[in-house]
Amino acid sequence: METVLLLALTEPDGSLGRPALEALAAAKALGGELIVGLAGAETQAAANQIAGCGAARFLAVTGEAFAEGRYSTDAAAAEALCRAAGAPLVIAPSTSRWARALPGVAYRLGGRVDTHLTGIAMSGDGPMVTRWFYRQRMEATLTRAGRPWVMLLDAGCIPAWSGEAGSAAVERLAVEIPLTRTTVTGFQAPQAGEQTIRPDAKLLFVAGAGWTKKQADGATHVPEAESLILGFLRGAKASLGGSKSLVDLSGEGEAVLRFMTHLNQIGQTGATPRHPKGLSTCCHGEEPHVVGWRFVTERRAINLDANCGWARGKADVLYVADAFEVMRHVNRMLEAQG
Ligand SMILES: Cc1cc2nc3c(=O)[nH]c(=O)nc-3n(C[C@H](O)[C@H](O)[C@H](O)COP(=O)(O)OP(=O)(O)OC[C@H]3O[C@@H](n4cnc5c(N)ncnc54)[C@H](O)[C@@H]3O)c2cc1C
Repeated sequence: METVLLLALTEPDGSLGRPALEALAAAKALGGELIVGLAGAETQAAANQIAGCGAARFLAVTGEAFAEGRYSTDAAAAEALCRAAGAPLVIAPSTSRWARALPGVAYRLGGRVDTHLTGIAMSGDGPMVTRWFYRQRMEATLTRAGRPWVMLLDAGCIPAWSGEAGSAAVERLAVEIPLTRTTVTGFQAPQAGEQTIRPDAKLLFVAGAGWTKKQADGATHVPEAESLILGFLRGAKASLGGSKSLVDLSGEGEAVLRFMTHLNQIGQTGATPRHPKGLSTCCHGEEPHVVGWRFVTERRAINLDANCGWARGKADVLYVADAFEVMRHVNRMLEAQG
């Protein structure tokens, strides 16, 4: 079995996040010799965190220059780790930083890269990977003869590695810091208010355009919609998704939910998040939207229309009801639970 290099960037607190631990589990499952390659401002704590993973070597590129996400420094660190490890197989979590830097690294190494993988397993004497094409409409499995083969694993697809921490002997690599044009001065969050996108949440709450439409009394009730949705998100610690119609409204100068941006959009031209459960409200459930629910395991919807898209086999449960009324009641129950 071929040697596998796991590439991981450390978090600001020096630890490894869940996507890195999932990629580690995938790397271990292949059964070959394992080398861990870490990059970040601090790497010893991360190596200690996974000391019990059975890696033959822990390599690290360490320093402030590698703390921030920047193509040139991330790619330089990854290239140095790949060259030092000399592994034919390289597995990394598909974080925004690695997804940006590793295709270029694969090119520099004369290798191949596959992104957005949802599974990596052994088939014969090499790995076989799974990924979706055409915005999650077709699933394919593929193998490759080219090496090194860089594989980026999407988060949430396999259980994270868990095991003993300890004390790992880290081999530090000296990397010449490349000339950088980009200076990270801080972060600007797209939401004006609180964070509503929570990839780790157990529940995805989707709001559709219906929340901003005229209701039975002939009037719109956008402020109440806002408070019901935010109240539910806080109470249930859910993540917020939106339909395209709803997130597009802001561009048309219509009454909008102020915390909703295009980043919340679920669907063919939006995101395809992974949550165990989903609750759709005031959203019709058209195919371009529902295709973004591909990886949501249990789906429920609330719609006034018994003939909405969800009724056609797209939801496990459809409540034919007024979402305002239902969510008022649900929020009261959540408040009572404290
Ligand atoms: C190429 C292409 C790509 C697309 N990509 C996406 C995508 O990525 N994501 C996406 O979402 N869409 C996408 N769309 C658009 C998609 O086809 C739909 O137009 C969109 O999802 C509709 O949004 P909606 O259900 O929120 O709004 P509407 O269709 O307006 O539905 C609103 C719903 O709210 C219900 N409602 C109103 N009031 C209440 C109430 N009080 N209680 C309960 N229910 C109520 C109504 O019965 C209605 O069903 C795409 C379309 C195309 C052509």
